[in-house]
Amino acid sequence: MAGTEKTQEREQEDHHYRQHATDRSRSHQKGEKNTLLRRMNRTPVYLQLRNTKRLSERVQEALDLLRTCRVCPHQCGVNRLDGETGKCHTGRWAIVSSYGPHFGEEAPLVGLYGSGTIFFANCNLKCIFCQNYTISQLGEGFMVTKERLATIMLSLQQRGCHNINLVSPTHVVPQILEAVEIAISSGLTIPLVYNSGGYDSVQTLQLLEGIVDIYMPDMKYSDDKTAEKLSGIGDYTSINRAAVKEMHRQVGDLQINEQGIAVHGLLIRHLVLPHGLAGTESVVKFIAEEVSRSSYVNIMSQYHPCYKAFEVPELSRRLSREEFLEAIKQAQKAGLHRLDGILGAPVNTT
Ligand code: SF4
Repeated sequence: MAGTEKTQEREQEDHHYRQHATDRSRSHQKGEKNTLLRRMNRTPVYLQLRNTKRLSERVQEALDLLRTCRVCPHQCGVNRLDGETGKCHTGRWAIVSSYGPHFGEEAPLVGLYGSGTIFFANCNLKCIFCQNYTISQLGEGFMVTKERLATIMLSLQQRGCHNINLVSPTHVVPQILEAVEIAISSGLTIPLVYNSGGYDSVQTLQLLEGIVDIYMPDMKYSDDKTAEKLSGIGDYTSINRAAVKEMHRQVGDLQINEQGIAVHGLLIRHLVLPHGLAGTESVVKFIAEEVSRSSYVNIMSQYHPCYKAFEVPELSRRLSREEFLEAIKQAQKAGLHRLDGILGAPVNTT
């Protein structure tokens, strides 16, 4: 009983904190008066490329990157068109582990009918605490041709999903583009969400300009030594920051329509790690100062140890409530005012 009361007390306290943060955010936004919500019923950007040669040219350029693979910053140089594999263990065809409407994403992506997620196997990051390691690192899934992948996209649209949410797409951008071309010609009309770990090459991202509507990258670290130790990437910080800036250049801040659905723009995710390992203060400062103070940011609290996390003592416990609240304060102090869950309703109200 005492435990239940304590939980209720904590929930109430959290609610009050969030309400307070919401009020502060709302008053902060009054001068901005819905500029992010003007384009209510915009169509996906790729429909403008549909009847031009530009889409086919992009597909071809992307496929060329597979020949001596430089699709992602690892630049392995293997010939994936011939079935060779590099650090992502993926050859000519993408591997899908699962797909379907997903209701666990951020509210602006989920809406009423879910986000149409397609989980690609074999991430280009090797995070020792990955909750989906059987997919991201052990490669669970089935190989898909471009036609099959296009059919999956269309089936998600058919089920009413608000978007096609491409999870861990970085290493299969060419395969996605060739499938998108087919899907568009067969009637795809919902926006594409590029949901990556944030280790993306600017050159490859440029091939997605005018095709992807919503970028949703992680910003995992602000320190390369930590990134190397926890994700096996020694240059994560600079690559990640350049990628996020390129994404923002292409799509700008997140736009949410009157129904509360994200239609275009950038949504950044940052998973707070115990003992400050994610470098939250530096990450939020970068976003506020070098991307945009109006960036929509999800500061995530759900870290729990799994996979190889117990090998690192600092990662062997959950995030504490104090650590999470401190991260939120740091984000607000940096000037960010569109924090997922903290804003309350994602649609701006005046
Ligand atoms: S996409 Fe895969 S093979 Fe290509 S550079 Fe990246 S890790 Fe290497």
